[in-house]
Amino acid sequence: MRLPELLSRVPVTTTAQVESFLGSAELKWGKHRRIKVGKVFHNFLCLRCGDQRTFVSGDELDCLGLGDDQVSIDVTLRCTECEASVEAWFLVASDGPIAGQSPHVKVERYTENLRDRAERIDAASGPFADLVKRAQLAYENDLGAGAVIYLRKIFEKVTWEVAEILNIAVKKANGNPRPFAVVLEEVNGIRNIIPQRFSSDGYQLFRELSGIIHGDSTEAEALQKFKPCLQLVLGVVNEVRQDNVVAQAIEELGWNVDVVEEEVSS
Ligand SMILES: [Zn+2]
Repeated sequence: MRLPELLSRVPVTTTAQVESFLGSAELKWGKHRRIKVGKVFHNFLCLRCGDQRTFVSGDELDCLGLGDDQVSIDVTLRCTECEASVEAWFLVASDGPIAGQSPHVKVERYTENLRDRAERIDAASGPFADLVKRAQLAYENDLGAGAVIYLRKIFEKVTWEVAEILNIAVKKANGNPRPFAVVLEEVNGIRNIIPQRFSSDGYQLFRELSGIIHGDSTEAEALQKFKPCLQLVLGVVNEVRQDNVVAQAIEELGWNVDVVEEEVSS
């Protein structure tokens, strides 16, 4: 196997014997070397495309020497459709000398900088994957308001689940639901569930999208704003999944997705 193949498998990290990629000369500590051994591929949810895309590196990978058995590799990856660019970093370690013939190597650390341009695929999978798919299907068939209804259901369900965990009331004394915006504000005040990129402008963008999701937007408006709305909702789901405390509590409770689907179809 060639090294880029191993890098493309991350986050699955297995030790593999790869073809020589540094050449025979040792890459000394602190020294750089550009290598041309193939491209790295990763699938992400591209936020500009609003869909899953393959991101691919250039022909050359940039290596930094860390010793005779470790190398740091920086890679920029580009969406094959819209060319949105993200970065990934790999720490590759070997059993013996990393330069030379057929080293046994393993990706010891991996991190990525997706820059609000892409998200890991698993953000779009999990309990809401089906609702997201339906929303996208409605959108592709020009059903703007229909697509937005699915997004609203996901958005509300996530917010209510977190509210419940935080012991925030979702109903008034008379049993009627409290306004969504109020519950959301209280939830977000305790645990940030609104992604940074939607709150950095003083929540203006968030309020606008949230208004489209919850208000009476026209069909054209709903279609036009579907993609940013989808990004907002997926972003909220992702924030919650990354909040270890909340995510664990939700896992213990179990997402009740069937209920959401019934509400949507009724
Ligand atoms: Zn793209």
